[in-house]
Amino acid sequence: MKFGGTSVGSAARMQAVARLAADAGSNLVVLSAMSGTTNTLEEIVAYLYNRNADGAKDTIARLEAKYLKTIRELYATEEAQKQCEAYVHTVFDGISALTRELFSQVQEKIVLAQGELLSTKMMELYLKEQGVNVLLIPALDFMKLDAQGEPDQDYICEHLLPLIAPKADLYLTQGYICRNAHDEVDNLRRGGSDYTASLVGAAIGAEEIQIWTDIDGMHNNDPRIVKDTRAVRHLHFDEAAELAYFGAKILHPTCIQPAKYANIPVRLLNTMEPSAPGTLIDNKPDHGTIKAVAAKDNIAVIKIKSSRMLLAHGFLRKVFEIFESFRTSIDMICTSEVGVSMSIDDTRFLNEIVHHLKKYGTVSVDLDMCLICVVGDMDWENVGFEARVLAAMKEIPVRMVGYGGSNYNISLLVKEEDKERALQALSRQLFA
Ligand code: ASP
Ligand code: MG
Repeated sequence: MKFGGTSVGSAARMQAVARLAADAGSNLVVLSAMSGTTNTLEEIVAYLYNRNADGAKDTIARLEAKYLKTIRELYATEEAQKQCEAYVHTVFDGISALTRELFSQVQEKIVLAQGELLSTKMMELYLKEQGVNVLLIPALDFMKLDAQGEPDQDYICEHLLPLIAPKADLYLTQGYICRNAHDEVDNLRRGGSDYTASLVGAAIGAEEIQIWTDIDGMHNNDPRIVKDTRAVRHLHFDEAAELAYFGAKILHPTCIQPAKYANIPVRLLNTMEPSAPGTLIDNKPDHGTIKAVAAKDNIAVIKIKSSRMLLAHGFLRKVFEIFESFRTSIDMICTSEVGVSMSIDDTRFLNEIVHHLKKYGTVSVDLDMCLICVVGDMDWENVGFEARVLAAMKEIPVRMVGYGGSNYNISLLVKEEDKERALQALSRQLFA
């Protein structure tokens, strides 16, 4: 069970999580930092890099006060409260001491790790106070990156399994934090606790990986645009991966792979409504079903047209190299014999890219576009789905259509101003 920052964001929420975790039976729990903490730690890091000791101390003091307040609300006994306060003081004294040292990346990672260390310590002491036989296993003892900065699944397995050998009712560990190949403290990047959960679940061969958030991710719609939406109860891992790009706040994209390859289902659940069924993600396709429609704004389309492209080879490579050199990823692409259109969402280097593309052909740009993605069983041997999607667009100017890139998606590119109409028409056509 992984609980996100808002799910452990206050004393009351921590108590609710403790009950959920303890009631769930044989179980390993992964926690994020309390919400806002990692952001504040990043602020402190910025002060420390800038050698602004006052700014750092101010921010450290504010964050420490917040923790001390939470602790006063969390525990019933003075003993637990005192023990936790002592831990909090050690953590914040440790961070404060860094204002006197030369600050480097190694210290930065140590500072960023404190949020998860705090939340798990607080939870451990609370569970013990509640009489739960809990064992806190330090993520820094088993979560390891290899020389490429990728999680080292063999190392993780080998070091985690002995740690959970001693009998406990509940095991608890930190999300997000790990050690790198040099054994320094490191992390799995922002939002990385989902990734921890997936890696740990795969390592122990869990029955299921549960990602608990406080947003109803399965019903993640904007009711101003489409009414009468329904929650998605089941997704294939590949469908979840298609949706992850759209920032559907359901699952961190990196979380999908380890669970998918270990064939362990991931269940998304809502801490505010624990008995709701949630959404199950696994490797089983639902044949003949369209699941969801997602949209992303602020897309730019670049078109390059050139008669030199006709019958030439290597043309696309030259075009792609320009995007690569500006570290800009292409999301959607359509080609004809004499032209190619590509969509990007990161327009920071748009002018430079266009400038270089002009070497190879006539370039035009459309801004303020919207990428819409229909996700479901789009196996090409099925008949009718692409026709239904296009039928929904019959009144709407469509700039690009992408079909056949994967078995799970059809993409459409329309003007941002047509987004609402397009989404409503698709919803009627596909789900009514
Ligand atoms: N605490 C980390 C963050 O805020 C990791 C996580 O929440 O998943 O990014
Ligand atoms: Mg978070």
